[in-house]
Amino acid sequence: CSADETIWNDAYALDRAHVFHSWHAQRNLHPTEVVTGHGVWLKYADGRDMLDFTSQQVNVNIGYQHPAVVEGIKRQAELLATIGPDYANLARGRAASLVARRAPAGFDKVFFTNAGADANENAMRAARLVTGRDKILSSYRCYHGNTGAAISATGDWRRKPNDYARGHVHFFTPYLYRSEFFATTQEEECERALTHLEHVIQFEGPDTIAAVLLESIPGTAGIIIPPKDYFKGVREITRKYGILMITDEVMAGFGRTGFWFALDDYDYTPDIITFAKGCNSGYVPAGGVIMSDPVAQHFDDVVFPGGLTYSGHPLAMGAIVATQEAMEKEHIVDNAHDVGRDVLGPGLQALTEHHPTIGEVRGKGVFWAVELVADRATKEPLDDATMQRIVKEADKLNLVLGVHNNRIHVTPPCVISAEEAAEGVARLDQAMTAAGC
Ligand code: PLP
Repeated sequence: CSADETIWNDAYALDRAHVFHSWHAQRNLHPTEVVTGHGVWLKYADGRDMLDFTSQQVNVNIGYQHPAVVEGIKRQAELLATIGPDYANLARGRAASLVARRAPAGFDKVFFTNAGADANENAMRAARLVTGRDKILSSYRCYHGNTGAAISATGDWRRKPNDYARGHVHFFTPYLYRSEFFATTQEEECERALTHLEHVIQFEGPDTIAAVLLESIPGTAGIIIPPKDYFKGVREITRKYGILMITDEVMAGFGRTGFWFALDDYDYTPDIITFAKGCNSGYVPAGGVIMSDPVAQHFDDVVFPGGLTYSGHPLAMGAIVATQEAMEKEHIVDNAHDVGRDVLGPGLQALTEHHPTIGEVRGKGVFWAVELVADRATKEPLDDATMQRIVKEADKLNLVLGVHNNRIHVTPPCVISAEEAAEGVARLDQAMTAAGC
């Protein structure tokens, strides 16, 4: 018998033999085997029930194995498991309608993609075609995906080895805790960040810029909540120079912040919105671009030179329809809002009293960052080894924790109950104590 036959029932051995993982050198990886899940809980192969404070890639908003979503996928699989993008299909039309109704008025068309990166890729393509301009401005503190233009639009370290796309310019967005603008209040930070953006636009040449692309809340970069008036200001500046505004709701959208879209908590309307992750909690890969009517109408008689074999794949669409319906029926977005306000916010804030390494707690809904520092005065980031120790201690307490640089990102599924959220915060508290911070 072949080597594979001897390990055919061994998930770990097969993984190490054949699976090439994202974002890692491959040799020293030790992936944990997961068997199943339910709600906010994961069942590991070693028998442990783990409370998931990550939602994986911050995408499992509706929790694991939601019966209505599993059923929706099954029903669609039995009816029509695949069909090309050129056909009309009921699941696709319903998914587009349910997604578009969460956007501001005047956003009626959805171009479906496979995920978030290609949603941003196509949003930038549309903006360039509509304006006839080339450059895309985005933040240094952002992540927009790992395809050609999306990774060049990204600001963090992942752009640097992948930066082959042309026409990308970066600027600084508000982050009061580590202000680039020597600001001491959110008002100052907001005003100075807007002045900085306008100067970047003027120095780049406004008529070379197609769009400003921004996450509504920078997620991977640190769950940095923008000041209340920031986007309104960006909207005024972009309008003044005929520049389009693309809002990336891939991570923040569909309940994560306690709003359907994070932009609902701000007073502005962009030209294009991108989404993925929470639209169907990743039960089947999907993402998309929601276009405002003027952007969509540009392509009424002009060919849109973009497409995907699986644009609007029926299984992904079935999952979107079931997810959107269940989220509404079960008031899941309200739940995320209330758990954030009543449990996660106050609970995480309270940890600052006896963990001197906590520099700042920020967030809303089920989207929180706990930023750890070696020294509260200097704000020197806590070292990687200690951060990893916290993750290991949390694992011993059956808590799955997400760490990015010197931050713990607390991002459980939106369905988490108040009791589960309090339990998770208590375990985090213990893990930090055990890790000596
Ligand atoms: N945009 C944002 C804000 C994200 O957080 C991500 C992924 O984390 C992406 C885009 C890329 O999405 P995907 O990994 O589905 O391509």
